[in-house]
Amino acid sequence: MPGQAPIPKPSSAAWPPAPLPDAPADRRAVDFTAPPRLPAPAPARHTLDLPAPALSPWQQIERAWLGLTTPPLAQRALLHGWRADAPGEACPRCASTVGAFESDDEGCPACRNRRLPWSRCIRLAEYQGLLRRCICEVKFTAWRRLGRDLGRLLGARIIESLEHAGLSPAQAALVPVPSTFLRRLRRGIDHTHCIARGVRDVTGIPILPVLSRRHRPPQSALPLSRRATNVRDTMRARARDLSGLTVIVLDDVRTTGATMTEACRALRRIDAPNRPAHIWSAVLAVTPDERRRNDLHWRSQPDQPQPDQPAPQAPEPEA
Ligand SMILES: [Zn+2]
Repeated sequence: MPGQAPIPKPSSAAWPPAPLPDAPADRRAVDFTAPPRLPAPAPARHTLDLPAPALSPWQQIERAWLGLTTPPLAQRALLHGWRADAPGEACPRCASTVGAFESDDEGCPACRNRRLPWSRCIRLAEYQGLLRRCICEVKFTAWRRLGRDLGRLLGARIIESLEHAGLSPAQAALVPVPSTFLRRLRRGIDHTHCIARGVRDVTGIPILPVLSRRHRPPQSALPLSRRATNVRDTMRARARDLSGLTVIVLDDVRTTGATMTEACRALRRIDAPNRPAHIWSAVLAVTPDERRRNDLHWRSQPDQPQPDQPAPQAPEPEA
């Protein structure tokens, strides 16, 4: 090129070759022992994709001095460092928390040999921290906008699962687990329907409220051992042609799975010609299984004694 000094030809081949005198400094300082720098990965779809608007000056004043407003879900997630599960963190069949490579499309060791009333279960994360607080705010303060935002997150996860299974959203239907009339009256919100609207915003899947429910004491007021009995035979599916559809039953939280099981059974009781092709379940959160979590924790630390395993005794000193 004109104006550039010619590259001097070395008189003899020396090893290692010296860098060219006019080479850029960073090329001369290449460290081949360091790992290569990879480009930053594209943001995963499981992360929170809601818009995170910056706080306006007035919002900052309100938040700092008056405490009047609560930021939208996306900002709260950023503040609390919360994110939905990454792929592989929950079993696709029972939605329990699993370790790396512990589950596949057939399930995880906990559910692989069990018959479940649904063929797939989708969740956002475990029922704790920010997600738990948000779900309680939707239910007990009738915060519809927050419920819809959570539903939009769940909708993104449902679309991913439908694509993975090779199913079309056009052949799917959303069936929210209904609240009874008395409970809707007391809370002022049908929270699962609110979540279903958010899912519909993202997926375009229609909502079919085909389930009806008889009033019983709330599940949360009962011990775990009595919850299955409490909801047994409380739901009925209205006559409707669901043939060929993937019906996705929606609820907010799954603890023992008794409510979701009853809802799926009601759909399975539909007469054969009108019965849906697939029944899936989708919940915002799954109550963490402490025993399973302890298993995962202790499995990751094999050198430590497990809680139900006696600590190894020190060898007796030889006399
Ligand atoms: Zn499983």
